[in-house]
Amino acid sequence: MNSPEPASPVSPRTTVRRLRERGRYERSTITEILDEGLICHVGFIDSEHPFVIPTIHARLDDTLYLHGSPGSRTLGLLKKGARACVTVTIVDALVLARSAFHHSMNYRSAVVLGELREVTDRDEKMLASKALTDHVVPGRWDEIRRPNDDELRKTTILAMSLDEASAKVRTGPPVDDEEDYELPIWAGLLPVPVTPGAPEPDPRLPASSPVPDHVTSWDRQNVHPDD
Ligand SMILES: Cc1cc2nc3c(=O)[nH]c(=O)nc-3n(C[C@H](O)[C@H](O)[C@H](O)COP(=O)(O)OP(=O)(O)OC[C@H]3O[C@@H](n4cnc5c(N)ncnc54)[C@H](O)[C@@H]3O)c2cc1C
Repeated sequence: MNSPEPASPVSPRTTVRRLRERGRYERSTITEILDEGLICHVGFIDSEHPFVIPTIHARLDDTLYLHGSPGSRTLGLLKKGARACVTVTIVDALVLARSAFHHSMNYRSAVVLGELREVTDRDEKMLASKALTDHVVPGRWDEIRRPNDDELRKTTILAMSLDEASAKVRTGPPVDDEEDYELPIWAGLLPVPVTPGAPEPDPRLPASSPVPDHVTSWDRQNVHPDD
């Protein structure tokens, strides 16, 4: 990740207070996290109880998209204007300190607050469908059958602006108490990158089907939808 230019929080409720030097507010950092993170967790209140539901997201310019069945309780509440908090978390490394107290993780996370609108325009729905498909596997959209009108109708797509968002980032080695550096205890980072296993072809594929490049080259650390 590039070193971000300094930027200010956009609202008091997205201002990182605890370890505030880890707070990042520039759009480029926030979008990199949204793009690399495979899924998000969307939080909202339903009947006075908070829920946090995992789901796929995608970003296009300054808009975050979610999708699902028109029967979804989550999407139904959100499209009626329920206020939402969408969080994306990437764990880069486990931080192994000499003391239990200073164990940590290197992470990049983004929190987006706001309300969502239902996407009804066919062209925007198609663009969002492409973004959601390519978010999971970049390049997939160009090789698959596109949604038809019936499938588009059976898919609810919601959009959220990135206007009120923050990121928080921890990098670097463990930070131990000075006297603990003398202890004969291994300390350092254990990187935990998201790496794919070997592709498993669908049993109904003809045996001769080659695995496409966008599958063999899948690499979560190199997701650049703006390229
Ligand atoms: C990696 C991942 C990606 C997903 N992507 C999508 C997506 O793109 N679109 C989509 O619509 N859904 C997706 N889901 C499913 C999603 O988490 C919800 O199950 C779904 O959206 C239905 O939500 P709901 O509020 O209508 O469910 P309801 O069935 O109304 O939820 C009722 C209750 O069921 C429980 N529940 C619901 N979902 C889950 C869950 N995932 N895990 C544990 N308990 C649960 C909770 O207690 C919840 O309050 C994804 C799930 C995962 C784990």
